[in-house]
Amino acid sequence: MTDTKTHPKQKVVIVGGGFGGVRAAIEMGRLDFLDVTLISDSDMFTYYPTLYLTATGGSDAQSSILLAHIFADDPVRVIIGKAVSVDRAAKTLRLKDGTNVPYDKLVMSLGVVTNYFGIPGLQENSYGIKSIEEAERLKRHLHAQLIAEHEPDLNYVIVGGGPTGIELAGELATYVRDIMKKHQVHHRAVHIDLVEMMPHLMPRLPRPVGRTIERRLRKLGVKLYLNSKVEGASGDALTVSGKPIRSHTIVWTAGVANNPFFSENGFNLSNRKKVVVDEFLRADGSKDIFVIGDNAETPYSGMAQTALHDAEFIAQNFRFEHENRPKLAYRSKEPVYVTPVGRRWASVLWGDLHLHGRAGWLLRNAADVKAFSEVLSAKDAVVQWSTGEERQELCPICGTVS
Ligand SMILES: Cc1cc2nc3c(=O)[nH]c(=O)nc-3n(C[C@H](O)[C@H](O)[C@H](O)COP(=O)(O)OP(=O)(O)OC[C@H]3O[C@@H](n4cnc5c(N)ncnc54)[C@H](O)[C@@H]3O)c2cc1C
Repeated sequence: MTDTKTHPKQKVVIVGGGFGGVRAAIEMGRLDFLDVTLISDSDMFTYYPTLYLTATGGSDAQSSILLAHIFADDPVRVIIGKAVSVDRAAKTLRLKDGTNVPYDKLVMSLGVVTNYFGIPGLQENSYGIKSIEEAERLKRHLHAQLIAEHEPDLNYVIVGGGPTGIELAGELATYVRDIMKKHQVHHRAVHIDLVEMMPHLMPRLPRPVGRTIERRLRKLGVKLYLNSKVEGASGDALTVSGKPIRSHTIVWTAGVANNPFFSENGFNLSNRKKVVVDEFLRADGSKDIFVIGDNAETPYSGMAQTALHDAEFIAQNFRFEHENRPKLAYRSKEPVYVTPVGRRWASVLWGDLHLHGRAGWLLRNAADVKAFSEVLSAKDAVVQWSTGEERQELCPICGTVS
């Protein structure tokens, strides 16, 4: 073991205040031989799994936590800034404001960005649900439309048959009906459409999962467009497999791309454009640059559970290295897939076990508490989870009606 009295602490710089970065900072903050700095371009940790609820009348507090709150009692330095480049020889990370941050070890967990695949008109004419700002923009639009036109949109169109699109589609019909009532709009049915390019929803999971979710969505009145390709969007329609669906409310959840930081900084990328990592999650054959979570080419990359697992894995290896113990090689961990669809119903795939309905919903709540406890104390995690009951309407009409 290295003596921290004679050896200065190793400088670990972690970039990204999301699932991977925050978890890594918490774990490494506990290791007294490390000097830990967390750099993020946002002062908030975003809890993506509840953003669809924030967009449909829930509070933004349930989907975001201040980094300053998470690290209030931790010896972790938090810097709000955007990383733009890395100088591997000088071992410094450069921020957008020109600051150079020196590191001994660099851990990158920058998450993904939305990809519109160059589809004409899509970026300008669609809503997203990947940040608090996007969720609130969608919520504001739903109300503004009812106030301006005094009727719902002809169609509310969600693109993407993965968990994000499914969760939103399941909740949106109920929410739009609720706000129509508050705005005293009674004369029109609400049409929710879910568009997916593949023949099934949840195309990456075993077929029974998608089939059960398809049945549930149809029961909630959601119209499914399967095998349907988005070709373009305009101010009042989405073109799907050659035909227009009339709508002023198109929500794009179907595409993400790796954070551009890695291509801009010459990292070795896989076919999926994720960073190629070795058995210790190091990038580029480097001994001191680690890439985790959504950015790394690992079997279950793209899930919060994987980002948390990766963070714990490297923190453990840093400790083993300090104790002169052999480091472990990375082993991926299969996530539990929990997908809520409408109120008090969720599909759960846990290894070979597939269950759905109210039991799935209870598991989903347990999963949320567990996930919050990965970044907060047990007490704060329960408080954070309970904010899910709060409603937050930005609309003057709905905001004053209980
Ligand atoms: C709507 C939605 C719902 C989801 N639901 C689930 C779910 O139910 N279960 C599940 O397991 N997974 C879910 N996921 C996936 C999960 O959220 C991600 O896999 C997880 O967030 C990945 O963690 P990460 O640390 O790699 O990236 P993130 O959590 O995205 O964190 C990246 C951080 O880096 C910061 N950042 C980006 N660029 C820079 C830069 N240049 N400089 C400094 N900081 C930067 C960002 O602001 C952010 O704070 C969902 C994702 C979405 C979008």
